[in-house]
Amino acid sequence: MSFAIVRVALPVPLPQCFDYTAENVCADDLGRCVRVPFGRGEKTGLIVGLPDAADLPADRLKPVIAIQRDAPALPADWLALVDFAARYYQHPLGEVVAMALPPRLRKADAVAGAEADPLLGLTDSGRDALAAAKRSSRPLTLLRQLDDHGPARRSQLRAADTGPQAVAEALKRGWIVPTVAPDPAAMAGAPSLTAEQQAAVDAIAASLGHFQPFLLAGVTGSGKTEVYLRLVQQVISRGGQALILVPEIALTPQLEGRVAGRFPAARVVSLHSALAEGARSQGFVQAMEGRADIVLGTRLSVFTPLPRLGLIVVDEEHDASYKQHEGVRYSARDLAIWRARQRSVPIVLGSATPSLESWHAAETGRYRRIELANRAVAATLPAVRPVDVRRETLQNGLSEHLLRAIDARLTRGEQSLVFLNRRGYAPVLSCPSCGWVSRCPHCTANLVLHLADKRLRCHHCSCETAIPRACPDCGNQDIQPFGRGTQRLEETLAERFPTARVLRVDRDAARTRAQWDALLDQIGRGDADILVGTQMMAKGHDFPKLTFVGVLNADSSLFAADFRAPERLFQQLMQVGGRAGRGELPGEVMVQTHYPDHPLYQCLARHDFARYAALQLEERKQARFPPFAANALLCANAPDVATALAWLKDARAAALPFAQAFGVQVFDPVPMRMVRLARRERAQLLVEALTRPTLQAFLSAWSTQLWPLKPPRDLRWHLDVDPAEV
Ligand code: ADP
Ligand code: ZN
Ligand code: ZN
Repeated sequence: MSFAIVRVALPVPLPQCFDYTAENVCADDLGRCVRVPFGRGEKTGLIVGLPDAADLPADRLKPVIAIQRDAPALPADWLALVDFAARYYQHPLGEVVAMALPPRLRKADAVAGAEADPLLGLTDSGRDALAAAKRSSRPLTLLRQLDDHGPARRSQLRAADTGPQAVAEALKRGWIVPTVAPDPAAMAGAPSLTAEQQAAVDAIAASLGHFQPFLLAGVTGSGKTEVYLRLVQQVISRGGQALILVPEIALTPQLEGRVAGRFPAARVVSLHSALAEGARSQGFVQAMEGRADIVLGTRLSVFTPLPRLGLIVVDEEHDASYKQHEGVRYSARDLAIWRARQRSVPIVLGSATPSLESWHAAETGRYRRIELANRAVAATLPAVRPVDVRRETLQNGLSEHLLRAIDARLTRGEQSLVFLNRRGYAPVLSCPSCGWVSRCPHCTANLVLHLADKRLRCHHCSCETAIPRACPDCGNQDIQPFGRGTQRLEETLAERFPTARVLRVDRDAARTRAQWDALLDQIGRGDADILVGTQMMAKGHDFPKLTFVGVLNADSSLFAADFRAPERLFQQLMQVGGRAGRGELPGEVMVQTHYPDHPLYQCLARHDFARYAALQLEERKQARFPPFAANALLCANAPDVATALAWLKDARAAALPFAQAFGVQVFDPVPMRMVRLARRERAQLLVEALTRPTLQAFLSAWSTQLWPLKPPRDLRWHLDVDPAEV
């Protein structure tokens, strides 16, 4: 019997790994889950090393309890990925592993040999049944589909409109049987590519087999997805796997449908945080064992092991949701690029409004830029125009221009969208006589008025109360909503256009998946005339009858404290503008503003992203903001801000002796803009370096000093590398 040392990453907020002894360990155990004694209890971790010598003296090493050998071990390149993420984002490896591994695998339960998902095809008797059919039924509709499109996965058929019963019925009668998979890359119903699309596909396909990042900058509706699908086809026809990242769960079913429809024989795994534990673990193992051809998912799926990885696509690469804002604060887009390099595969970053970071990388030649300047179907981009509201009396925030534009759409039977830039737009309750506003008792935030269920809610913590009858400070009974929320706007529009069907599309109206789908359906059918929406409406949905978008309150982002706010505004307005006129009808966008000559609106009106990016990059260069510098934030929170500030001061003092040697600037700690959050107070300090490597080198040195800096009992801290907001 031989004893060896295993190094284990455990999900504890400590920077190091832990050594244990184990019997009969071999190299295959690297990447396996293991149960170990820890403190007074037990924990499950991952074996990340088999060192010759331990960190502890031999007599203090404890033996492991059990190594999980039923489930496959995580491969070496996966271990390298989480190790990189841990080092780059300055986060304990064990916690990165715990986040990246689905819970079932983590608990070291065996994941029962993932349910097979056979490809089902029509039998001769199925064809006979179809030919003899006199009436229609669900099983027959299913057979018709199979006859038209060829075999499909059982899971796909069960999820179709005909439902799981039809599948069971057809199987029982022998109308369909499992068939051998034809070429997974067999395509169904693909349009022929435009010249631009073809050029993009050719350029990227030429890089299959080696690392090359591409920035696919294509206006909304230019057919970027079609480009991805053609590339995916090439990859899977060579036996490779494709990883497609999308920003939001809400967008996965849509793309999933498109992918599954295009490649009926391919094994598609879709991964996102809303999946049940079991499904997530299964998809993960399926991908890891090479039993998936296409993996589609939100940011977390960047951690899916893919032995035959051939291509990575990051759709809407500029989207803020690729960056995680809690726990391990990673950017899935940035990790995806690292992964593409690690595995020598091309990566496509697609967007109509690329992030300035990616745009800059393309300008400087690190990425190759490919442009799709024209829409694939509708010939023209919408006309965009700023509407000067300086000398207008607004009606509840709506200008006469905008109202007339809506009126014209109503007359023509088309749809309009009134889009609210969310920033500063939530309606709060206020007292006109003493100035009282509804504030959250636990946060630096106002309570937001929800008329539908007559409550005041904090959007940052879970605090909520009933609407008071009178002002709590002065007793005035005439307290009023202040600011325009979507609900008030909905009321105003309904008053002005009494015959129109006004539909509100925001988080309140679409709390569940089903509600959201129902709303989209209703809009798609044309059962609404005026939509009132927030950023939920901006992305990814096509409504053929929507021809007008009016934007309110855009200006608040022009002068926001966060230097990325204008970039986001431009992206959001381009996106929302892209909703107008996707079908046959031409679109128009009006942006109400006090600054009609602002370069942002001027560039927007000309659809000139390149010009806007150049202006912004120049500003960033002057101000030494990313991508011309690399940032990190050290954040601390405690019951009172003084404690947080004091600890940050100590942290800064620890950095000063060597910061200069790295050419790194460590600023004074400041309270965060929103100081209080959920009864805790927060402060931060900014670290600024010239490049990412110098920032990394500095942070590694600094963090070895931060861990021993014993914080007060009630203080929590973390580092945010490449923060989304400063
Ligand atoms: P993007 O992702 O760039 O906004 P999509 O890929 O969603 O654009 O394409 C927009 C619309 O154009 C979709 O309805 C798509 O089916 C259609 N489309 C894309 N490429 C073509 C093409 N080559 N021929 C015809 N229709 C196309
Ligand atoms: Zn009052
Ligand atoms: Zn709160």
